[in-house]
Amino acid sequence: MSSPTRAVIPLHAAPEGAALLAPPEAVGPHLRDTLGRPLRDLRISVTDRCNFRCSYCMPKSVFDRNHRFLPQADLLSFEEITRVAQACLPLGIKKIRITGGEPLLRKQLPTLIKQLADLRQPNGERLDLTLTTNASLLARQAEALRDAGLQRLTISLDALDDPTFRRMNDMDFAVADVLHGIEAAQRAGFASIKVNMVVQRGVNDDQIVPMATYFRGRGITLRFIEYMDVGHTNGWQMQQVLPSAEVKQRVHDQFPLLPLAASVPGETAQRWGYANAQGQHDPSLGEIGFISSVTQAFCGDCNRARLSTEGRLFLCLFAGQGHDLRHWLRQGEDAVTLSARIAGIWQGRTNQYSALRGQAQASAPDQPKVEMSYIGG
Ligand code: SAM
Ligand code: SF4
Ligand code: SF4
Repeated sequence: MSSPTRAVIPLHAAPEGAALLAPPEAVGPHLRDTLGRPLRDLRISVTDRCNFRCSYCMPKSVFDRNHRFLPQADLLSFEEITRVAQACLPLGIKKIRITGGEPLLRKQLPTLIKQLADLRQPNGERLDLTLTTNASLLARQAEALRDAGLQRLTISLDALDDPTFRRMNDMDFAVADVLHGIEAAQRAGFASIKVNMVVQRGVNDDQIVPMATYFRGRGITLRFIEYMDVGHTNGWQMQQVLPSAEVKQRVHDQFPLLPLAASVPGETAQRWGYANAQGQHDPSLGEIGFISSVTQAFCGDCNRARLSTEGRLFLCLFAGQGHDLRHWLRQGEDAVTLSARIAGIWQGRTNQYSALRGQAQASAPDQPKVEMSYIGG
């Protein structure tokens, strides 16, 4: 096995050239990849840095003081990020998620949020604009983000038990820091807040029921995420994955659940509602979700592209290569050509890593998979 330090560095840009430009008739919301999937969701990483060292994402042994994060000059500016988002509008994107690293570490983030909130789809509608954060810095930023036009928030929290949480973030952040962030977000008027919990067998699976108990009836949707084999540094092993079916059973034994329909096509989470004494979904108790990318791959519906902090477009969370858009942005490429370029890249998309997981064609063995902290969740 290659050394982990080596594995996080060599990410290459795909070859650039006129061949990537899509013909004009393909540039529109009817754009499809090779498996017939549209582009609807753009995830934008605004930093590769983080103040946590979650062992499943940025283990301290690799992301230590010798780790070289991207230099400032390599990062896309807010203006460049907005140009990419604008170029994706004619291609049918409906949603943008800001992520990282820890996005709240990026200075003046509300300025970017405002620029993205001002964008409109071709039909005049706003984009669904959301952000994923560890919430450690949220208490002091929630209001500014909300005022800038951020609509929704996803907050990561892996345990309610303080020692377990401190162990998992490995930087001694307390559960209370995150809960204060959530309260501040609610006060700031965020109507839709989701909490993501990555479940690792033997690490935090005793927190499943306490987390469900805490968030049930609080207007917050808790989502359980299967521990994934992203990147090369977390030492992932299948034995540490607790299948969603088992997680659901543990919650259901405590609080009966009912399946709910997907709210939008391509939704990553399977939705379940809490039942009342009559066996019907009680909306006041809320719902929970399961993101089962290991045991029930959802590549068939995957409509997500990811823009890395320094402007590479990745077509899959498990891709080894990104397409270098920064090169074209800094060449002063106009919006129409940039749209055609992104359309051309999407047209060639074949990725379905999770569906093929374990098979030789899932990813080329000599290609490193990108790290989650670099590309965002
Ligand atoms: N720092 C922010 C946070 O933690 O919310 C945003 C970036 S983080 C990479 C995005 C999401 O990816 C988080 O919800 C995190 O729990 C999840 N994640 C990271 N590594 C993962 C893994 N190996 N398996 C499953 N989810 C993972
Ligand atoms: Fe940081 Fe988020 Fe990764 Fe944890 S999951 S190390 S908070 S980027
Ligand atoms: Fe999408 Fe890749 Fe995840 Fe499949 S493995 S759902 S293609 S990001």
